[in-house]
Order: sequence, then C-alpha cells, then structure tokens
Amino acid sequence: MLSTRNNLYENQDLVEGDMLFPAEFANSIRGVAARGSSVPWTKGIVPYEILPGYASTQQAFIIATMQKMERLIAVNNYKCIQFRPRIASDIYYITIVNGQGCASYVGQNTGVTMARTVTLQHPGCIGEAHIMHELLHALGFYHEQSRPDRDDYVRINYANIQYGMINNFDKYTNIAVDTQNTPYDYKSVMHYEKNTFSVNGLPTIESLVSNVSIGQRDNMSLIDIQEVRLFYNCSAIGTTLPPISTTTTSK
Ligand SMILES: [Zn+2]
Repeated sequence: MLSTRNNLYENQDLVEGDMLFPAEFANSIRGVAARGSSVPWTKGIVPYEILPGYASTQQAFIIATMQKMERLIAVNNYKCIQFRPRIASDIYYITIVNGQGCASYVGQNTGVTMARTVTLQHPGCIGEAHIMHELLHALGFYHEQSRPDRDDYVRINYANIQYGMINNFDKYTNIAVDTQNTPYDYKSVMHYEKNTFSVNGLPTIESLVSNVSIGQRDNMSLIDIQEVRLFYNCSAIGTTLPPISTTTTSK
C-alpha cells in the first residue's frame, strides 16, 4: 500500500508521477539535469506567483523554502539561484497553485507559451523537501533514477510496478540529460522511494548496494546542491544577482 503522501506525490496522470511536459516536448525530452538551452532559467532568476488558495502561513512557508534553497545553493553567500515575485515584464514565471498532487514542469521552457504551473497541494505537498523537489524540477532537473548509468546502482523490479506506470521508470540517454559528472546519488531528494508505484507493496526500485536507503524527503542532498551549482554556472567566485525587493509577494 502506498501511503497518502505517496499517492499525493505520485500523481498518476502525470509523466514520471509528478513531472509535466509542454505539449511540444511530450515525447521527446526526458533524468538529472535536462540538456538544452531552453532549460535553465535566465541568470538563475525564477519569477513566481502564488495563486490564492493557501493560508498566509502556507504561502509564507513556500517562500521561506525558496529562500532556504537560495541560501543552500549560494556560493560564498552569492546567490546564483533566485526566486522573486513576478513583475509585469516577466515573460517566463512559475505559477504555484494549490491543485491536485505535487507536480511541476521541468525547466524554463524558453519559447513555449504555456502556464508554468507548479502544483503544491495542501495537505500533502507543503513540506520543505516536497517543495524543494518540485522546484528542482522547475529548475531543470529530472528524477535521479532516470540517469543513464542508473542500472549500475539500482534495480528496477518491473513485476512490482503498477499497471501503466512502467514508463515512470524510464532511463534517459546522455543526449537527453547531463549527469554533469556527479556521482549517482542515493540521497538525492529527486530519487524515488523503494515502493514508488508499487502494485503489491514490494519494492519497485532497490539499491544494488545493501544498507542504502533511497527516497529521502528531508532536504536537498549535498550532490543535489552541487548539481544546481554546476548547471547554473555558480562559480567559486559566485554569481552576483541584482538585489531585488522581497517585500511584495503575490496573493
Ligand atoms: Zn518528481
């Protein structure tokens, strides 16, 4: 049996459980950092709006989690990822909604006209690691076990996967994704849990190394953080983003 959290987390109507794809890309891109110039957010700035539907405390928690991500990813206190309230001139921005399940598109998707919706259902998805997971999708990252080298680290038990859900365990190619030469990360907040999409309660994905747990949802791992820094070219010197006002937030 999947827990309530899992059910919310793995919206079965969505690709990979919780990832959304623009129509144009539905059958093309797929792991880790997605390749392509349309993926990273320009200058690492992700404008956002939060639609009504949350209590003020929930909205504040979402924003506080964004700020925590900024701090964790920052190098020498220079932020190289920044979430800020959208302004009228923003062409691309994410829209956070209290909809069904936890879900996000992957990347900025430059040139694509669509609502870049990040769905964070309350209750279920307003937890720090769940918010981080979806925002990492938005920043351009797929699930860890989608890496081209994943079969060296995990075993997929196809017989235990729910009918119609096998495609959620697809492995992507080096053409579609870029591991950025980081090691496979069992501790990634982007890694599936062992029972994700299980039809019978038995593990669908298992580590090939004993005594390794997968699917933690506590925080971004050190490698998760490293991957974002690499993807957004956060150098040791740091990329200085322009100061922004954080006093205004969407309702
Ligand atoms: Zn996900």
